[in-house]
Amino acid sequence: MLVLVINSGSSSLKFQAIDTASGDVLSKGLIEQIGEGPIADHGAAIVIMEDQLHKDLGEREVQAVGHRVVHGGERFSQPVRIDYEIVRAIERLSPLAPLHNPAHALGMRELMERWPDTPQVAVFDTSFHRTLPEYAWRYALPDYLYKEHGVRRYGFHGTSHDYVTGIAAELLGHDRNQFNAVIAHLGNGASVTAVKNGRSVDTSMGYTPLEGLVMGTRSGDVDPSIITQLIVRGICSAEEMDSILNKQSGLKGLSGSNDMRSLVERAAEGDDAAELALSVAAYRLQKYVGAYHVAVGGAQALVFTAGIGENSWQFRERVCSGLGALGVKLDMPTNVTRSSEPRVISALDSAIPVLVVPTNEEEAIAGLVKELLNGNAEA
Ligand code: ADP
Repeated sequence: MLVLVINSGSSSLKFQAIDTASGDVLSKGLIEQIGEGPIADHGAAIVIMEDQLHKDLGEREVQAVGHRVVHGGERFSQPVRIDYEIVRAIERLSPLAPLHNPAHALGMRELMERWPDTPQVAVFDTSFHRTLPEYAWRYALPDYLYKEHGVRRYGFHGTSHDYVTGIAAELLGHDRNQFNAVIAHLGNGASVTAVKNGRSVDTSMGYTPLEGLVMGTRSGDVDPSIITQLIVRGICSAEEMDSILNKQSGLKGLSGSNDMRSLVERAAEGDDAAELALSVAAYRLQKYVGAYHVAVGGAQALVFTAGIGENSWQFRERVCSGLGALGVKLDMPTNVTRSSEPRVISALDSAIPVLVVPTNEEEAIAGLVKELLNGNAEA
């Protein structure tokens, strides 16, 4: 099936046309600055995309569209076929994802109008985490904050965690439904998920993608009183606080850079700030791995994925060097070997295998779209 995967942002549109049989990407592009200059709106961006698709695909036609959607709230636990009611439901979730959901809805409406006969599917970043038990998704806050305002853990990066879980189970020869693992998705945004019997039972991102690990520019976990006190004392406004936590913190806040490669180099040259940033980030992840090892009743694998997880052997080494209590032991030559294949990087006598599994959200979305539409065709 030829699936067009779309990530529609407020001022950008990313797309990839994927042949699900071969996994080949037949066309891809990124259209930026929507709303400025010649690209007046999402409709104009789609016209540009259509031109590109026409050039790259020739006679072949897109058979289905998969839209990446950041927030599916409590309603969406699986990909769904899009109709106007679904678009409205995605829009209604905008208070939970104000930067993303309205933009996703815009892209969907435009494409539904222009391609009325092509089935469209929404794939949600949150849906893999709908299997969390309530004691994991509830915050210990007054009940009405959940009931009236939807304040709870939702979790993100779900499509990636789900995809990587499947590949890791297969690589190790486990039945996915009996596979327990800790999955660390370490990109610019980073999250770790506890997988029990193939399902998400806890995850480090929460109500928003700010909670949890130390990220490129996001703080991850902090004492919430820091926020209220700084605002009350007039040191910053609520808006400034939001920007501090999301854009000026994390690796960048500690060291001035959110580029893992340069941090590793600087640390090797004796730069204290870079060393500190790396050790704070690694320690945070070690704590989560320990916690989630318990949450899943004993992990059968620790899996690294995304930009840092796949590429930075130094960061993997730093993290694993603090996991001796779990019996984790890397095989150093394998850890430093670059590869784009899923692989085991732990020593034979490691108590838990450590894996690197490259993630591919677009391919995962295309696969989910095909699965949903084929399932419907048979029903
Ligand atoms: P996102 O999709 O969240 O924007 P990515 O998964 O692309 O992020 O990951 C970005 C991160 O990966 C950056 O911190 C970058 O420094 C790191 N990264 C990418 N390539 C390498 C590499 N070869 N070595 C070390 N880190 C890398």
